[in-house]
Amino acid sequence: MRRRLIAGNWKMNGSRESLAELDGIAAAAGAAPGVDVAICPPFTLIERAAARTPTLPIGAQDCHSAPKGAHTGCVSAGMLAEAGARLVIVGHSERRAAQGETDAQVKAKAEAAIAAGLTAIVCVGETEEQREAGEAEAVVSAQLRGSVPVAGGDVLVVAYEPVWAIGTGRIPSLEDVRVMHLEVRAVLSDLLGADRAEAVRILYGGSMNAANAADLLAVPNVDGGLIGGASLTAAAFVPIIEAA
Ligand code: PGA
Repeated sequence: MRRRLIAGNWKMNGSRESLAELDGIAAAAGAAPGVDVAICPPFTLIERAAARTPTLPIGAQDCHSAPKGAHTGCVSAGMLAEAGARLVIVGHSERRAAQGETDAQVKAKAEAAIAAGLTAIVCVGETEEQREAGEAEAVVSAQLRGSVPVAGGDVLVVAYEPVWAIGTGRIPSLEDVRVMHLEVRAVLSDLLGADRAEAVRILYGGSMNAANAADLLAVPNVDGGLIGGASLTAAAFVPIIEAA
């Protein structure tokens, strides 16, 4: 029922030369017809990436919630769609921390993305202190209640990314992943109704790589991955596609 989604988040990495990596990624995606694959490069590479590998969905890493206007330095969801993007990550923990994005802003961005015809990947996740205090599920649940747009369905993707697992090489136990993804599904069901919640893909993100992908993807309610470091090269990313 839910198709797996393996999405790469290049963050502030990559140049025109790096787009050559997309050729191998697109080929692997073509060889895995049951899996959706996407890459989110920096804004400046979106149009070129979309033109280079038309079969590989390209996404952005942020958008503004307004369609246009006096927002210096920002990019609207409609602009991303015009550039060839088909999805956008919103509320990544790096933006929540460094740009101070709130749940309400993240929700408005997700709504704008969906209104522009994009798939929205809404990110949530607890810090290490919150997990150690036994608050992980409560924190993630509150983030979801504040940031998930009412649209739901298959245009909405949720990425559970424990902040302490991002870029650290550490991942939660598979049991902790199972418990959290079940909780995310339950909160989505509460927010959207069971039918629309069932269609939402819930990705795991945070140090996913070729060595741990198969185990993580076997956990119930893990419908794919959001991958940072291991998405920068075809050599690192293709085994994750194959594991899905
Ligand atoms: P990582 O990043 O795979 O490098 O840990 C994941 C993310 O931040 O989306």
